[in-house]
Amino acid sequence: MYLYLINNLNSIVKQLSGAARLLVVSKNQPVEKITPLLDAGHREFAENRMQEVSQKWRALKLRYPGVKLHFIGHLQSNKVKDAVALCDVIQTVDRLSLAEALIKEMQRSDHFPECYVQVNTGGEQQKSGISLEEAENFIAMCRDRLKLPITGLMCIPPADEDPAVHFALLQGIARRLGLKILSMGMSNDYEVALNYGATYIRIGRGIFEERI
Ligand SMILES: *Cc1c(COP(=O)(O)O)cnc(C)c1O
Repeated sequence: MYLYLINNLNSIVKQLSGAARLLVVSKNQPVEKITPLLDAGHREFAENRMQEVSQKWRALKLRYPGVKLHFIGHLQSNKVKDAVALCDVIQTVDRLSLAEALIKEMQRSDHFPECYVQVNTGGEQQKSGISLEEAENFIAMCRDRLKLPITGLMCIPPADEDPAVHFALLQGIARRLGLKILSMGMSNDYEVALNYGATYIRIGRGIFEERI
């Protein structure tokens, strides 16, 4: 019944040919549509709401060893405890108060999920992410002063702009700061992101939409 999921997965993985890793964005998707992908051996998923992480992934993580769950939504400080307990990567560190809450909870629980800093490359008011101007200082502060395990960067380009500009900006920051992981590119623009060194692409519709 869900054979198209496996076909979509296989065709994107094949296209990547090892250049980047595929994060399947399972937000808003029921467990019935996620398990075929887990059964096919895929292990890297992303969610954007902690409520869905708790509801779906507490059980799925027990059933499927080796799952690596990334958090890609706006993280509220009151959800930090769950995020540290349930997520393997938190991609959306974007403010000092959050960074401080994260390191505090990591030390308390002695569990240190990897963190990426989200950069608001488009300077959009309504979007999360640290501004371009503040990004390098903020990352240095997180790494050097707080000792937060920052390993990468993520961005979501403005919908109405050429994504290449934004991917290039993120790549530049990563190079200057020696960060190896770049989470960028979604269903519509991942081919562009690959040209700018994406190491993780985040795909929702490209996996879960049945194409004719
Ligand atoms: C939903 C979402 C995606 C996936 O978008 P698609 O267009 O469905 O591939 C990727 N990244 C973030 C942060 C998202 O919220």
